[in-house]
Amino acid sequence: MSPNGVVKSRIRQVGLTGMLLLTVLGARLYDLQVLQGKDYLKRANQNTIVVEPRPATRGRILDCHGEIMVSNAPQFELVVTPSELRERKEVIKELSKLLDETEAELDKKIFQAAPHAPLVLRRDLTQDTLVRATEIAEQRKGVGVRAGAIRRFKYGKMASHLFGYVGEINAVELRTRRNSGYALGDGIGKVGLEKQYDALLRGKKGADQVHIDVLGRTVSQFELRPSTPGPDLYLHLDAKLQQVAEKALGETLAELEKANGERSGGTVVVMDVNTGAVRALASLPQYDPRPFARGIKSKEYQALLDDPGFPLVNRMIHSAFSPGSTFKLITATAALQKNLCTTHSYFVCGGSFGPANCFVRSGHGGISWEDAMAHSCDVVFYKLGFEMGIDHLRKWCALYGLGTPTGIDLPAETGGLLPSPEWKQKEWDDRWYDGDTINMSIGQGFLLVSPLQMAVVTAAVANGGEVVRPTLAKKAIAKNGAVLLEPEPHREKLPAKPEFLASVRRGMRGAVIHGTAVATNLPQVAVAGKTGTVENSPSIHNKHGRNHVWFVSFAPYEKPEVTVVVFLEKSHGYGGGLAAPIARKCYEYLYPEGWDQEKKEEVKSPA
Ligand SMILES: [Zn+2]
Repeated sequence: MSPNGVVKSRIRQVGLTGMLLLTVLGARLYDLQVLQGKDYLKRANQNTIVVEPRPATRGRILDCHGEIMVSNAPQFELVVTPSELRERKEVIKELSKLLDETEAELDKKIFQAAPHAPLVLRRDLTQDTLVRATEIAEQRKGVGVRAGAIRRFKYGKMASHLFGYVGEINAVELRTRRNSGYALGDGIGKVGLEKQYDALLRGKKGADQVHIDVLGRTVSQFELRPSTPGPDLYLHLDAKLQQVAEKALGETLAELEKANGERSGGTVVVMDVNTGAVRALASLPQYDPRPFARGIKSKEYQALLDDPGFPLVNRMIHSAFSPGSTFKLITATAALQKNLCTTHSYFVCGGSFGPANCFVRSGHGGISWEDAMAHSCDVVFYKLGFEMGIDHLRKWCALYGLGTPTGIDLPAETGGLLPSPEWKQKEWDDRWYDGDTINMSIGQGFLLVSPLQMAVVTAAVANGGEVVRPTLAKKAIAKNGAVLLEPEPHREKLPAKPEFLASVRRGMRGAVIHGTAVATNLPQVAVAGKTGTVENSPSIHNKHGRNHVWFVSFAPYEKPEVTVVVFLEKSHGYGGGLAAPIARKCYEYLYPEGWDQEKKEEVKSPA
């Protein structure tokens, strides 16, 4: 019975027993209603007990040598609970000054947030900001400061496209995940590996029993159920190789920006040809993940969107381009499989095939099959493409994996564009011409591929016909030692004759020894490669119509282990001159002078 109910029943008793008892009862009533009532209320308030989730520590991300690349650090964060806000205008004004955000931006963030959950406005508060934020929190209802954890990136910007970042869960994300333990106010991986492996990295929440007083203050708290920290995620990535790739790419892009007066981008991947294990994957320019981790300011985010270098785009997997002459790997396989030529064929290039010109206008003259690869003669491939027709060429593109995402463990991968006559009719309202096939046979025209797809194509040629799935994650190990994830290499057999692929490899080796890719002719390791240059017409994002350049390669030639693929967007110049030297730096790291000797010694003296 509530104190009020008690009082009412006493009043009824008053009517029944007569006025005589009034004085006595009056005193009792006062005792019940005023004195004990207060006590009841106090006790009720003291007994407010809630069960709150106890957040789990997010799993760390490590490289293949066990070096920690992404970890957690304690921090303080400023939160606002919209439904509890009073004097909203004044609060926003004060926070605007403190956080260096406009009032309109803050108002929008608070308006869009869930009303009853704390919204994190800024993580990782500096000492000064923390002092002022605590002052505001003491004076203003609905504003709070709390302890939390923040992602720490050992190498700063490095590999930010791979790691991605964690942000507050939004309504759309929550709708599909409510049954998987996600709740308002939770952090969630937004892009990159943080998104791909979020369910794993986030661990499992525990629960706390919390006693709250009348003013909403926590009186005591104890653990009902412990949380389970997220496992350590080990990657195939080699942090040092990633540094080498980013440095080489960054230096080239800086030189190009100086020469072209225009910001552009590029990408490099180093992948194991036999397993698809990704040893390095660089895409520049890249963004700094740290502002995202602490809560990015609107103007910082706008600056990233306005950057002409498109730093939010991972060019390795988000973008697709014409493959240029690197596509000849596929045209060559398709032609040999259809017996349009043999590995001993001999051709004559007079500089043109119908209206289509060879890039050497005077012609290559008499040229062998493998030299046509090494010197990238367009006329030979025009002729073969014309003879095989679009259906056969498309079939081999699809077998090599073009037109569909490679399946790398990163979100939002493009599958590029594998065009067909039906596609052209629908999109362009026009039929497919022989000229379209001829164009496609040298990697120009409608076909679009991601640089990662070309790495898979190159790996298949190198490993003798296995289409591998690129993979970043090596394994995830829980704190108790349990292995929670260990992806098996995924391969699909390419129905190509081994001797045909061997002949393509010889052509690529020729390109490095005496053809278009001599920049990767190293004494200590035999590299094989194919260059590509993509001609562009002027467009919105490429006003001068500058070339894109490519270099696809693998090594060692005799027993292939890795593929290195380099792509530079609107760089101008040629693949052999610009892209191949970046691959060379990666090979020099992987195969330093005397590396084979080191290997032999390792075998002689096992640990
Ligand atoms: Zn030619």
